[in-house]
Amino acid sequence: MELRKYFEKYNDEETCIEELKNKRLENGLICKKCGHDSHSFRRVDLKFQCKKCKNRISLRSGTVMENSNLPIKYWMICIELMTLSKRKFSILQLQYLLGHKRYEPIWLMVQKIRLVMHERDEKYTLRAYSEFDSEFLREIEKLTFSKKRNKLS
Ligand SMILES: [Zn+2]
Repeated sequence: MELRKYFEKYNDEETCIEELKNKRLENGLICKKCGHDSHSFRRVDLKFQCKKCKNRISLRSGTVMENSNLPIKYWMICIELMTLSKRKFSILQLQYLLGHKRYEPIWLMVQKIRLVMHERDEKYTLRAYSEFDSEFLREIEKLTFSKKRNKLS
């Protein structure tokens, strides 16, 4: 099964943290406080620290993974799957393979990634791992709220 490849590649959370960290540094991280572009990474709390002013930003902040409690591993597998796999896959199948109990967080993760990747070009993965603009953040918020509303009604 094709999915197996992704599970092998992103086998443990440590590997995923390392990869996300590297991707973000490659994409270029700009300090919001002083505009400096060089950061070190703190393993102890998973934060980047500006080498100039010591301002810290978390590993997930500004990415599609922000505000999610799901393991980074899930996101990496899902993003890779949605980027590289041409065929459709079912969210239920993904949930089953990830071994996650609840359907809703997995559904929401897939919707967020779809939103980020809706441009359908090569910037796909880059976009998911790097900071996106406030318009995107608003769309993601809308998605979260509409899901909550549906649950209530
Ligand atoms: Zn700074």
